[in-house]
Amino acid sequence: MRVSMIGAGYVGLTTGVCLAEMGHEVICADIDRDRIAHLNAGSTPFMENGLAEMMSRNVAAGRLAFTDNLPEAVANREIIMIAVGTPKGAAGEADLSFVREAARRIAPHMSPKTVVTLKSTVVVGTAREVREIIAEERGALDFWVTSNPEFLREGSAIHDFLHPDRIVIGADDRDAADRLIELYKPLLRRDVPLVETGTENAELIKYAANAFLALKIGFINDVADLCESIEGDIQAVARGIGLDKRIGPSFLAPGPGYGGSCFPKDTEAFVATGRAHYAPQPLIEAVIDRNAKRRRRIAERILDELQTARRPTVTVLGVAFKADTDDVRESPALYIIPYLQEKGVTVRAFDPWAAANGAKLLPDVEWYNDPYEAAEGAHLTAILTEWNMFRTLDLKLMAERMRKRVLFDCRNILDPETVIEHGFRHLSIGRATLP
Ligand code: NAD
Repeated sequence: MRVSMIGAGYVGLTTGVCLAEMGHEVICADIDRDRIAHLNAGSTPFMENGLAEMMSRNVAAGRLAFTDNLPEAVANREIIMIAVGTPKGAAGEADLSFVREAARRIAPHMSPKTVVTLKSTVVVGTAREVREIIAEERGALDFWVTSNPEFLREGSAIHDFLHPDRIVIGADDRDAADRLIELYKPLLRRDVPLVETGTENAELIKYAANAFLALKIGFINDVADLCESIEGDIQAVARGIGLDKRIGPSFLAPGPGYGGSCFPKDTEAFVATGRAHYAPQPLIEAVIDRNAKRRRRIAERILDELQTARRPTVTVLGVAFKADTDDVRESPALYIIPYLQEKGVTVRAFDPWAAANGAKLLPDVEWYNDPYEAAEGAHLTAILTEWNMFRTLDLKLMAERMRKRVLFDCRNILDPETVIEHGFRHLSIGRATLP
């Protein structure tokens, strides 16, 4: 099928590349000219495992192209996917201005019988609104607007797109739904479950799914706090909970709180949607509040350890909001580091991929090219991102470099006994601090 992707960000680009890999003919359009120039030169605008290789393979095969010319991108396409950003608005609601703008821009150039589908995470009623925007411009045109939310995770985006837990197709018309089913046939043939429903249900599914995942993270973090008070072990407790098939083991890893480009804004948009429709969502309101407090609590625990230090220095390992991405949007590090700096702490940092993005938002941090350089002279090292390379840190070398041997493993990725054996005081989440 001939597909146009509006917005070549994390979701638009990954989806476009994967659809090309599935055999479709895809053109990705973006208003960001630099981004398109880079893509046309063969480089991806962000780090994602396997993306660059798959992209160049499909460009070479003639199935994938990039343009900043929207009219060219949308004419004669069977499907136009909108994958532009939907950031947080002033009052927590989703800011749909990019979606509305994209709809206005594509409308004059759409061919008859096109299916427009919303890949962006959008609030209930947006498909209807986009339909109205296009109809205003092109009253006589025959077209459909559908919803097809995306559930991929940064860091494993390609795998997630090609092996989804389910595909959600929200359409209020049979022909439009069939067009999307045709698009996903290579995946549906492998028995990927299909949820076919109306556009508004599809829109709500995405927000409710993210709200539920955030709830799981918030819950396990609160249980971790309780474990700290009773000198328990959250790792054992989480495993004991997660083996219950009704609960499941994923999203039960305690840590410094959720971040990223989705959970923070999507939970707020979910709450705002609830308010707007007189169906408040107090559970998720509490999750948002707890998550904000969590970052402060981590920073306070670090400060407690620095009380006797003159010119206190902390090494932060990892500023990405999670491993395997260079994305720092809403990362816990963006809250914890400035909080420490305000209290007079010098922060040295290392991140294998996200240092450049981190440096744009954290100007006073000293950046280093490896964890050991970063650890030089520090009173405490805090692991904030669960990068695999931190699991095999050379603790002997870390101990030699640091001024005081205090290690705060905010992701529980190191074995406490091994850390203690190397002479460290070991802090983690949901377990006793030793010695
Ligand atoms: P992003 O910021 O990485 O990319 C958005 C892109 O859209 C940018 O390149 C921007 O230049 C472009 N754009 C904006 N207006 C445009 C227009 N009028 N025409 C063409 N291009 C335009 O955003 P993202 O992380 O890819 O997220 C996109 C949507 O997908 C959001 O709604 C997000 O909530 C949702 N989502 C994101 C993820 C994720 O992991 N990042 C996962 C699932 C869903």
